[in-house]
Amino acid sequence: MGDSGDKDRPARPGFDRDMLDVLACPACREPVERRDQALVCTGCGRSYPIRDGIPVMLIDEATPPAAPGTDRSRPASGTD
Ligand SMILES: [Zn+2]
Repeated sequence: MGDSGDKDRPARPGFDRDMLDVLACPACREPVERRDQALVCTGCGRSYPIRDGIPVMLIDEATPPAAPGTDRSRPASGTD
């Protein structure tokens, strides 16, 4: 019991919906977005690598987003 059929969800063209539908950011549970060889969280912005076609959904493996305002390593842009 309780086996409700698949819901009629709106199609999102341009994404591998079948794959991404089951993938969510382990950090914030937001859906991720395919971007080249990585999956980028639409919530926190973490980037999860895809190795051998398998997305590595581990917070420890994720690349943290570039936090705006945190210019700890600003490039030497002509300061002379
Ligand atoms: Zn996230």
